[in-house]
Amino acid sequence: MRPTLLNPLFAEIETLPGVGPRLAKLFQRLAGPRVVDLCWHLPSGLIDRRYRPFVAEAEPGRVATLTLVVDEHLPGRSPRQPYRVRAHDSSGTIELVYFHAKGDWLAKLLPRGETRVVSGKLEAFGGQPQMAHPDYVAKPGDDDLPAVEAVYPLTAGLQPKVVWKAARAAVARAPDLPEWQDPAWLKRRGWSGWRAALETAHAPDDEAALSALAPARQRLAYDELLANQLALALVRRRQRHSRGRAIRGDGRLARRVQEALPFALTASQQAALEEIRADMAEPVKMLRLLQGDVGSGKTVVALLAMLNAVECGAQAVLMAPTEILARQHLATIRPLAEAAGLEVLLLTGREKGRNRAAILERLSSGAASLAVGTHALFQDDVGFADLALAVVDEQHRFGVHQRLQLSAKGGGADVLVMTATPIPRTLELTAYGDMDVSRLTGKPAGRKPVDTRTIPLERLEQVIEAAGRAIVAGGKVFWVCPLVEESETSDQAAAEERFRVLDQRFPGKVALVHGRLKGTEKDAAMAAFAEGPADILVATTVIEVGVDVPAATVMVIEQAERFGLAQLHQLRGRIGRGDKPGTCLLLYKGPLGETARERLKVLRETDDGFRIAEKDLELRGAGELLGTRQSGLPEFRLADIAVHGELLAAARDDVRLILDRDPELAGARGQALRVLLYLFERDQAIRYLRSG
Ligand code: ADP
Ligand code: MG
Repeated sequence: MRPTLLNPLFAEIETLPGVGPRLAKLFQRLAGPRVVDLCWHLPSGLIDRRYRPFVAEAEPGRVATLTLVVDEHLPGRSPRQPYRVRAHDSSGTIELVYFHAKGDWLAKLLPRGETRVVSGKLEAFGGQPQMAHPDYVAKPGDDDLPAVEAVYPLTAGLQPKVVWKAARAAVARAPDLPEWQDPAWLKRRGWSGWRAALETAHAPDDEAALSALAPARQRLAYDELLANQLALALVRRRQRHSRGRAIRGDGRLARRVQEALPFALTASQQAALEEIRADMAEPVKMLRLLQGDVGSGKTVVALLAMLNAVECGAQAVLMAPTEILARQHLATIRPLAEAAGLEVLLLTGREKGRNRAAILERLSSGAASLAVGTHALFQDDVGFADLALAVVDEQHRFGVHQRLQLSAKGGGADVLVMTATPIPRTLELTAYGDMDVSRLTGKPAGRKPVDTRTIPLERLEQVIEAAGRAIVAGGKVFWVCPLVEESETSDQAAAEERFRVLDQRFPGKVALVHGRLKGTEKDAAMAAFAEGPADILVATTVIEVGVDVPAATVMVIEQAERFGLAQLHQLRGRIGRGDKPGTCLLLYKGPLGETARERLKVLRETDDGFRIAEKDLELRGAGELLGTRQSGLPEFRLADIAVHGELLAAARDDVRLILDRDPELAGARGQALRVLLYLFERDQAIRYLRSG
């Protein structure tokens, strides 16, 4: 249960003064539904209102705060003319100018003869000082007028002042919390307590205070990273200490499959397999990550690991994030498994009725020992006779929570997670700190390098011709259409439009696949491309992961500048899988920004997924989330891994010490750390403590 002292933070945003249902919706879009979300929404700028000149000496163009006596109201003579209010101080007069303003509202705001403090941007009009629509009009001494106003990232419909007020109210709700950080460490870094840091972060008084490296922001970022690392460590410890079973196959099935393979395993495939087998042989649950670039040959490794389980009379499953991928895996695995005399079942959302019942029966009775599928494999009514290994492909779509769920479902089953997104070491720690990692480096022999080129969209015609030549030469072409922000429909429209153009040029040779198609339609399009008459596959990013079409030699990506580096790398990995060299054409719509140009350049220069991942992180820099959302890496609210990498390493070491000294988080600091886990909603991990 969440400690009650955190309740004010987890109250809905509507409980803040001045926030009704309409604003609450906007705030929800901006930051999140609760008060704490607004606390994590830090300012991105500031307006300094400390400049308080006399009217006569006020510099135009600056934000100034003036103390004025109101003289007269001059309504516009027509609705189109502005309403002006004349006012003065001891040095001179100024006009406050309002367009489309209501006179009675202004009469109340600026009563004639009274003194008001007015803050806004100064202008000069015909040599006469004026201020259009002051930001603030306050009575002298009113503390509604900030000396330095924090400026927040906004969303349409929310005024800066409204956000500022709500954020201030949210921060005021923050309770004092017990200190979870080590006092010596705090002192060394010169950091304040949590509440003070939160207040400071929301009240920047100069540009330096807005930096991710400002002490208050570092402290908050560290808190978040500490929560992340602590939760992962608890999960990992639990995994380590939970009873699994020792799986030691005799290798007879694996041998038969390896004999059926047209190639030998690479050294790094062999090494990964050894690591996996050693883990499975231990009587504790395995939680291992198999990281390897696209095309590095993870599937075979997975299959051999699965056979290790089957050799012991147990079952193994492979779960993919999409139906297309599940089918693809099935196509790879089935013939190989058959070479060892084994049947492989398929279970996705599309297996229904009697067919599904029959599959479930074979799984629960143990008649079938291998299955491939989607998350449908882990629905409540699916039972296994004796599941010993669950392989999860493309894990980056799942998070720690799903990992926990999966591992619970499998009982004592070992879990092997495969990801084709090479992750920088620093991020590996945040996302997979709970797992052991095997890396497949390099690619299977015989893989031809892909020639990567960047081409402006104006030369589309040439690209179409190049596609035509590739087809004549017996190749196939992937054509990926632009990713349109936030709108699946326009994605689809763009793909359909491109399909029409290409289909006219190459009648009957073009297939189309996008996210809105039904499963069977997708399969049909994919099959037409993989084995059938279609030589060009026009697609939205649904082909992003894993699809294997050895004959594909050309990858065209439209508006490549809109994709993340990792994603482009993934897409490019779809080609050059057969024996012919591949070409990747990155079409862009100019002019390119600095970062976009740099990104495309990296792709031209290297094919090493791990290097690309590091570069991606570097280029993405602070705040810009391009690509992370798709990657499923944990999203941090306060920490920015590109900047706070050093803090992440410190947090990891800190956690190690903490759990050495107080494994159950029972002491005073331990209790405070539990509060921290709740604060950052990593509290699922608390269940793994003895007195959770
Ligand atoms: P990944 O899943 O890592 O993207 P796959 O397992 O799909 O890669 O393998 C890509 C291709 O490489 C497949 O066609 C596979 O048969 C082939 N392959 C795998 N291992 C080797 C190897 N050791 N030598 C040659 N080809 C291999
Ligand atoms: Mg694969």
